[in-house]
Amino acid sequence: MTLSSNSHQIVLEKSPNPELLTTGKSIFINGAFGPSDSGETREINCPANGEQVALVSEAVESDSVRAIEAARKSFDSGVWSSVQAPERGRFLLRVAQRITERKEEFALAETLDTGKRIVEARIDMDDIIACFEYFGRLAGQDAGRIVDANDANVLSRIAYEPVGVAAMITPWNYPLLQAAWKIAPALAAGCSFVLKPAELTPSTAILMMDVLRELELPAGVANLVTGAGARAGAILSEHPDVDLVSFTGGLITGRKIAASAAGTVKKVALELGGKNPNVIFADADFDAAVDNALNGAFVHSGQVCSAGARLVVEESIAEKFVDELVRRAQQIVLGGPFDENAETGPLISADHLAKVDAYVKAGIAEGARVRCGGRAATEDDGAGLSNGHFYLPTVIDQVTSKMSVAQDEAFGPTVTVETFSTEDEAVAIANDTVYGLAGAVWTQDAGRAQRVAGRLRHGTIWINDYHPYLPQAEWGGFGQSGVGRELGPTGLAEYQEAKHIYQNLAPQVTGWFAAK
Ligand code: NAD
Repeated sequence: MTLSSNSHQIVLEKSPNPELLTTGKSIFINGAFGPSDSGETREINCPANGEQVALVSEAVESDSVRAIEAARKSFDSGVWSSVQAPERGRFLLRVAQRITERKEEFALAETLDTGKRIVEARIDMDDIIACFEYFGRLAGQDAGRIVDANDANVLSRIAYEPVGVAAMITPWNYPLLQAAWKIAPALAAGCSFVLKPAELTPSTAILMMDVLRELELPAGVANLVTGAGARAGAILSEHPDVDLVSFTGGLITGRKIAASAAGTVKKVALELGGKNPNVIFADADFDAAVDNALNGAFVHSGQVCSAGARLVVEESIAEKFVDELVRRAQQIVLGGPFDENAETGPLISADHLAKVDAYVKAGIAEGARVRCGGRAATEDDGAGLSNGHFYLPTVIDQVTSKMSVAQDEAFGPTVTVETFSTEDEAVAIANDTVYGLAGAVWTQDAGRAQRVAGRLRHGTIWINDYHPYLPQAEWGGFGQSGVGRELGPTGLAEYQEAKHIYQNLAPQVTGWFAAK
């Protein structure tokens, strides 16, 4: 793949960093950028209009092996792993500062790759900065613990050490944010790492490596391979020199990664999809619940792992609630990244749009009813929309729990509606999923809110809200939404091994075996 037309060249000139993002030399190993071993490159096209916005290296397996070797060597040398933890923390705070200074460049790169609105990309950058600040402050706070061995002659303690070489594989919906949730705790813990971002959205990961290089992170600690999952990613979970693979992405890929990581019994962290229930009781604040149901389902056109794509509404208000939701969904303005009127943007690719459309059609075939949307946007829906992968906000009712639309993750701008008449029934529907990432409950009855929150089998529960998260609070899934947690103190622990050090202060002959 190479540059193919002059019009592409013009768009590339708008790149926020042409040297790093348009020369096809984006593999970062041992502190230096370079090309793929294969010499192949990949065009990155903006999902909002199809224009080429970057040209990056297309990594192959041998590039990933080189990156693993560099990470292993740097880890074993102690060049970062034996730096005192508070100093590693101070480094993370400098990363946060540098991203703050380069925020507009980062936001623009994220916007061009994903097609999301620039205002949303700026919010993502603020969240990334907050993530580095949080782990920067956390580093070194926990110096391990002394264990009481019930013996005055024994000193026993637990030390938390870096797990080693971490492989990180990330998705395209929040490209740098998902990577930051891994990079910040890995560096805080003292790990070396290899990052493989989604092949569609590599630009901000490249800029991230540039920041780490600028701040003189020792060579080999951070490495980046930009390329496709099967060619550049699979080896990361198989290779014996990788100690941990941390993956965020779809359930099917997650299963493959867990299976191949089993061959070398490495640690595995999986942040997978969700089919997240948003439970609305009749006593909820109606306007707030409708508004947040809209946000839950349609922010970033539903390409959010925790999207509230499964509404579970109390029967007595369901008709009024859904009518209002449909009315509001029909008013959502779609548009490109720099369209100031736009309220949400495109899907990531034509392939993904086709998957979302097939999901909706499967629901119709099963007897569900599309109340609005249910198709790709055309020029009649807005000028320029047919140039990008835009899909209309879609509300689907007359849904039952057994239907595929109630069970499968669409990862698009769709929301299904199921109804209930008792609290038990609401909980049963909300828990009837293989996933368990997030959910919400809307009620003005505080007792019921806590009761239902306690019974929902999902990793994050919002009460009378949807979507906020905190870097200091653990994030992750029950069930097949994943293994492990990101963020919070547990998010740091993922990148650590606990070591028990037992010292006998008065060694003696045991006499267990007779001295002969
Ligand atoms: P995906 O599984 O297709 O790809 C994710 C990453 O895995 C990409 O980098 C891809 O190149 C790589 N990959 C693909 N096949 C691979 C293989 N065989 N070996 C190694 N790597 C491989 O997912 P996606 O379409 O990019 O992202 C969407 C999914 O991510 C959704 O299911 C969403 O719910 C999930 N997600 C979850 C969270 C969370 O926090 N739980 C956050 C964001 C996204």
